[in-house]
Amino acid sequence: MQDGIAELKAALPAGAWTQDIDIIAPHLTEWRDKYFGQTPIMLTPRSTQEVSDAVRICAKHKLPIVPQGGNTGLVGGQTPQNEVLLSLKKMTAIREVNPTSNAMIVEAGATVQAVHDAADTANRKFPMLIASQGSCTVGGILSTNAGGNHVLKYGTTKELVFGVEVVLPSGEIFNGLTSLRKDNTGYDLNRLFLGAEGTLGIITAASLKLFPKPGFVQRALLAVESATIAVALLDTLRAGGQLAMFEVMPAIGYRAVVDNIDSAKDPFDARHPWYVLVDWEVGSEAEGAALAENLLGKAFEANLIRDAVIAQSDTQAIQLLNIREHMSAGQKFLGGSIKHDITVPIDKIPEFFALADAAVEAVVPGSRPVGFGHFGDGNIHYNIAQPEGADRETFLANWDALSQPIFDICDELGGSISAEHGIGIMKREDLAARADPVKMSLLRSIKAALDPDRIMNPRVMV
Ligand SMILES: Cc1cc2nc3c(=O)[nH]c(=O)nc-3n(C[C@H](O)[C@H](O)[C@H](O)COP(=O)(O)OP(=O)(O)OC[C@H]3O[C@@H](n4cnc5c(N)ncnc54)[C@H](O)[C@@H]3O)c2cc1C
Repeated sequence: MQDGIAELKAALPAGAWTQDIDIIAPHLTEWRDKYFGQTPIMLTPRSTQEVSDAVRICAKHKLPIVPQGGNTGLVGGQTPQNEVLLSLKKMTAIREVNPTSNAMIVEAGATVQAVHDAADTANRKFPMLIASQGSCTVGGILSTNAGGNHVLKYGTTKELVFGVEVVLPSGEIFNGLTSLRKDNTGYDLNRLFLGAEGTLGIITAASLKLFPKPGFVQRALLAVESATIAVALLDTLRAGGQLAMFEVMPAIGYRAVVDNIDSAKDPFDARHPWYVLVDWEVGSEAEGAALAENLLGKAFEANLIRDAVIAQSDTQAIQLLNIREHMSAGQKFLGGSIKHDITVPIDKIPEFFALADAAVEAVVPGSRPVGFGHFGDGNIHYNIAQPEGADRETFLANWDALSQPIFDICDELGGSISAEHGIGIMKREDLAARADPVKMSLLRSIKAALDPDRIMNPRVMV
């Protein structure tokens, strides 16, 4: 290892690597303080060529590499355990914005917020709405196939990409940057790298899809009786095809936010059991008001909603979204939390809650489920807060005991143990144990074909 590191230091420019522990430290822990890492060196290349040079040296010495973007991943995939850490944080250029092709070529270290800003300047929309967008990067969202709040209308990251530029484990550069909507010339190689979590190569740039900006976004926060009613409400609110967001929050999680986070205020006078946050993308403000009045009127008549707040200004729309965006932060006020990112067919959500809540109560009585999130995609962040007054560490020791029954229920209902966060190191063993053997064999064959020496994020996924 020492020879390889010496060669990296000699070959790369001074600004492209560091061993300064104060600079490296923030890259070795993550948002939830769940994973802690170490590394002999952090590489911070500034160009695709520098990434390629670095990877060639690592390949020569069989030095394993962990790529890192914004370090907001939630399954431990970006935290090195003595591997070389390769941060994309210095590769942030927007290389090209093409409004005619509705395409943007951007480097992997640019944040999602920077992509939004560049799209906005060109009067276009990049439809990835995600609470971590100020920090998470293009390389990160592609590598985890991130979801977010607009999947209902626009799909996951995989649907938002034309192609990628990748440094392969050999150091060669695969150039898939294109804005072609039609290109049937062989296997879809670009897609191989989407959701690969850095196990097949390092994404250095991407060609992203842009969309026309909607004339107006009508937002509303609705109070409902139960998760079952929330699911029933979805059909009413998506009539007409303009629904772009359908996010659901139970009272326990909602109150943890509005009672503890200064910037989040409860717009309702009364307390309610569940809340639903929706966006409709429409042509104009008047159209938004009429649509909300019409659809919410029908929902009231059908006894699907208890109360509703229709955003009356941009400021109020931001305030309503702010509650949803703080759902993860709010749960820190409930003590220790065991987290799941699962998906089931939308019609099975009520059954999932009935089975999962009972299973949780049987394993750790008094635990408090906080199942929230993207119900419009069948994706539930089924987090479990510790019983009131329990010891945090004692509760967290139940992580596996609580997760396995939840995963069993997902399997039974035809769901997935990872909806949008990926496998990382957190669910690697679960994937191996639960996935179809033919699928596992294909995943392993692809890994072996592209990365025979297993230098790319070797502890992750497969
Ligand atoms: C408050 C909060 C809210 C969140 N909300 C959502 C949500 O709604 N939906 C959702 O899907 N996720 C969500 N996440 C999770 C996280 O933001 C996403 O997984 C995001 O895609 C990670 O991006 P990143 O740049 O931080 O990647 P990192 O955390 O740095 O890395 C994630 C994985 O990608 C790999 N990787 C990173 N960059 C590259 C690259 N250039 N080439 C190859 N591999 C690479 C890493 O090795 C690692 O395996 C949330 C996280 C937080 C903290």
